[in-house]
Amino acid sequence: MVKYLIIGGSAGGVGAVEAIREVDPTGTIALISEEPFPQYSRPMISEFVSQEATLATMKYRSEQFWKKHNVHAYTGKTAVKVDFDKKIVELDDGQKLDYEKLLLATGGTPAIPQMDGITKDGVFTFTELASAEGITSKLVHAKSAVVIGGGLIGVSVADALVKRGIKITLVEVNDRLIHVVLDEKASHLAENVIKATGTKLVLGQTVKQILGKQENPSEVGGVLLQDDTVISCDLVILAVGVNPRVELVENSKVELKKGIIVDRFMQTNIPDVYACGDATEAHDFLVKENRRLPLWPLAHVGGRVAGYNMAGQTTKYEGGTVMSSMNYFRLPIISVGQINPEDSENYEILVDVQPEKPAYKKIVLKDDVIVGFIFLGEVEKAGILFRLIKNHVNIGEVKEKLLSKDFGIISLPEAIRKEMFVVH
Ligand SMILES: Cc1cc2nc3c(=O)[nH]c(=O)nc-3n(C[C@H](O)[C@H](O)[C@H](O)COP(=O)(O)OP(=O)(O)OC[C@H]3O[C@@H](n4cnc5c(N)ncnc54)[C@H](O)[C@@H]3O)c2cc1C
Repeated sequence: MVKYLIIGGSAGGVGAVEAIREVDPTGTIALISEEPFPQYSRPMISEFVSQEATLATMKYRSEQFWKKHNVHAYTGKTAVKVDFDKKIVELDDGQKLDYEKLLLATGGTPAIPQMDGITKDGVFTFTELASAEGITSKLVHAKSAVVIGGGLIGVSVADALVKRGIKITLVEVNDRLIHVVLDEKASHLAENVIKATGTKLVLGQTVKQILGKQENPSEVGGVLLQDDTVISCDLVILAVGVNPRVELVENSKVELKKGIIVDRFMQTNIPDVYACGDATEAHDFLVKENRRLPLWPLAHVGGRVAGYNMAGQTTKYEGGTVMSSMNYFRLPIISVGQINPEDSENYEILVDVQPEKPAYKKIVLKDDVIVGFIFLGEVEKAGILFRLIKNHVNIGEVKEKLLSKDFGIISLPEAIRKEMFVVH
């Protein structure tokens, strides 16, 4: 019997292995990972496509990681079934592994819209290295691409392909880009920067069909938009969202909403079964409830917390909140927390905008406590604001300084400085 069995070998799985080994140097660990690659940074796959990173520079841990931590790694294998009563996991090659403690670190799976032509050669998703390699192999001949989805992943792939000299049309069903973590002003400033690179934006509609090439209908030749416009292209990249990968727990006793529900110890409702990362809905310290927060550092920390608890060292997950940090099209943006409160009359909103740079700062406060901010163009000092949010620090006495040029840690009274670094 395996003492600790982990499914998924990315940010969450790696965090768990490290934490378990800190507490239990000898207990058996087995890890099942569908991907054959060594642990790599998933957020860096756009840099892989733009040739700013290689698999070697994307490595998250060394090739020897499993060996060094005495982990039996089943790489290139998929876990296809879990019997939570008998505590057995079945692999796609028929092997069965029984466990004492199980961690589900299965991450996310790209959403695939249903439409004619979706299976044509030249259609890719963009969440794993294999897709990035597939896209790269097509760039020898491809000249143009349509990216469907103007969120963070869509913008990241567009940036990478523009750097490779590919003509891009970015299609977004919403009327503005990156709408989940930006407000209208920030979206429009970002759109102007992206358009200036020659990238075409199609906003407010989507693709209804993927068309084939005249000479080879099974290969991508273009797309048909909702308004019947045809855009010719050699590649279509789907970036319409990522869903928690939960097929192993569907129709089981494990509590599931969109993601697997975990408590503050990353434990599911089933004894000895833990979960972390993109597969879960876990604690948000701002709204103080569980929600999906698909972010690399949270998956890693969640994995660590799960690992400690699996190994018997009780550890509470501090939680995360909505956070995005990006630097695509040479435009740095950081967005944290509640940036578009619906009942805005109950909030105080501080704004500084310099469209010519472009630079934009928006800070959202409730009862003199910062609950969210967007920094675009100039992102220095975002770390200070993050700490103030994290620790719910009342900054009433200094709030008028928050947007001033010389605002820094030094401008904060000592009591506030102390409060922002308390670990709760
Ligand atoms: C293009 C892109 C850009 C991103 N940029 C950022 C960013 O800038 N900042 C940020 O914080 N986050 C970013 N993210 C999100 C971040 O990558 C994820 O939050 C993080 O990878 C989640 O880690 P995880 O361990 O939960 O799951 P994943 O990284 O999704 O890994 C899960 C692993 O489990 C494997 N697996 C799943 N089911 C099985 C099974 N049944 N059997 C065997 N193996 C299985 C999968 O193949 C995969 O290898 C980005 C994601 C993408 C795709």
